Amino acid sequence: SIAMDNAKMFEKMQQMAITDGLTNLYNRRYFNLILEKEVERAKRYKSSLSLVMMDIDHFKVVNDTFGHLAGDELLKAFSKICQEPLRQTDTMFRYGGEEFVLLLPETKLDEASNVAERVRALVEETVFPTNKGEVRITVSAGVSEFGEQFSSQDGFIESADVALYAAKEAGRNCVRVYSK
Ligand code: GH3
Ligand code: MG
Ligand code: MG
Repeated sequence: SIAMDNAKMFEKMQQMAITDGLTNLYNRRYFNLILEKEVERAKRYKSSLSLVMMDIDHFKVVNDTFGHLAGDELLKAFSKICQEPLRQTDTMFRYGGEEFVLLLPETKLDEASNVAERVRALVEETVFPTNKGEVRITVSAGVSEFGEQFSSQDGFIESADVALYAAKEAGRNCVRVYSK
C-alpha cells in the first residue's frame, strides 16, 4: 500500500532538511536562514536580538566513559532540558555535534545572559539517565547581542563564539558575555 501521498512525502522531506534527526532540533542550515531574517528585522525595527552559543563541557570524556550511544541519549535529553527556560519566541538549534545555539528575539544582552545562566544552572543540577547509568554534565555559554558593529551575520555568530571561548578559558560551567 502507498503509505504517504506525494504532498505528505514532500512535507516530510522538507522538514527533514531543516531538522536534526537525533535531537529533533532545527539544524544549522535552518539557523543561518532564520538568523538572516531576524537580523533584518532587528535592523529595520531597531529591536534587540541576542544569541547564546553553548558547548557541553568535556563531552569527549562522557563518550569515552559511557559510550557513544549513552552520549547520544544525553544529547537528546540535554536538548529537551535546555528549552524549558525559553519563551515561545526563543528557538534552540543544534549548531554542531555538542554545540547548540539559542536565538532570542526582542532580547537585550543582560536578559540573554540571564536566560543562559538559567539554562546553565538547570543543566548542572540535572541527573541524566542513560543505558549506562546516571550522568551529570555541565555546559559553557557565550552571549552576544546584535549591533551595528557587526557588518555580517557571521561576525555576530563569531562574537558569541568568542564569548563561549572565554567561558571555556574561565574554567567551563559558566556564562560569558561578548563586549566590544
Ligand atoms: P570542551 O569542554 O573543551 O568542549 O571539551 P569537549 O570534550 O566537549 O570538546 P571536543 O570538541 O574535544 O569534543 C566534542 C565531543 O563531542 C567529541 C565528539 O565525539 C562528541 N560528539 C559530537 N557529536 C556527537 C554525537 O552526535 N553523539 C555523540 N555521542 N558524541 C558526539
Ligand atoms: Mg565542541
Ligand atoms: Mg564540548
